[in-house]
Amino acid sequence: MSFSLYIAGYIQPMDILNLARTCKSFRQLLMTKSSAFVWKAARRQVNGLPDCPTDLTEPQYAHLVFYPRCHGCGKYTTAILWRIRRRYCPDCRIERLCSVNPYNEEGIQMISILATEKIAIEGEIVAFGVDKEQMELHIHDHKRSSDKQQYITDKKEQYVAISVHARQCEKWQSDTALQHRIDLEMRRRERDNSKAFLIVSSSLDMNTRLNILVPMGSSYLAKLSSENPSP
Ligand SMILES: [Zn+2]
Repeated sequence: MSFSLYIAGYIQPMDILNLARTCKSFRQLLMTKSSAFVWKAARRQVNGLPDCPTDLTEPQYAHLVFYPRCHGCGKYTTAILWRIRRRYCPDCRIERLCSVNPYNEEGIQMISILATEKIAIEGEIVAFGVDKEQMELHIHDHKRSSDKQQYITDKKEQYVAISVHARQCEKWQSDTALQHRIDLEMRRRERDNSKAFLIVSSSLDMNTRLNILVPMGSSYLAKLSSENPSP
C-alpha cells in the first residue's frame, strides 16, 4: 500500500472525492478496483451509513451520497433519489424522469424492473417516473441479451435489492438530519444558557455565584467565600 493510499484510509469520503479531483494521476489511482478499500475505510467512518450496494462501485456510491451536485446540470442540490441512484434538482427531475407503462410498445417489461421516483412539480407529487437514461439502457441491454428470461429475472432481483437498500439509505438520511437538528438545538440552548447566566450572574453577589457554580459542599464554599468576600 502506498503512503498516499494509507493516508486516504483515515479521511472522510468527501475528502477522497476532492482528492480524486485534484489531478489526473490521483483520480486514476483512486478509481482503480484495487483502491476500493480506501473508499470503504472512509465510508465506515460515517456513522450508520448502509454498506455499498452491489449495483454501484465504492466511488459511485460516495459520489451519490456525498457530492452535493445535480447529476443533470451540476447545480447544488441535497435531493438524493436513492432508488434510481441519482441526485437531481427539481428542474432535472422533471426533465429526466418519465412515466412508463408496465410494458413498452415492443413488449419489454418496465414495471418492477426499473426503479421509480416521485416527479414533483412545485413541491406537489404528480407522478412516479423512471429515469430516461436507465430506461434506454434497459431496452438496449434487453435487446442484446441472449437469454431474455434470465435477463428479466436478474433485473427483478436487482430491483428488489435496490428497493431494500434505498429504504435503508432514506432512514439513515432522515436519522442523520434529525441528529443534526438536535445537535444544533443543543448548541443554541447552551449558548442561550451561557448568555442568560452571564446576564443574571452579573447582578448576583459572589456567594450566590459560587453556590451556582461550585456545588461542592458548604465547608468548601465557606472557605471560598471568605477568600472572595462580596463587594
Ligand atoms: Zn439539475
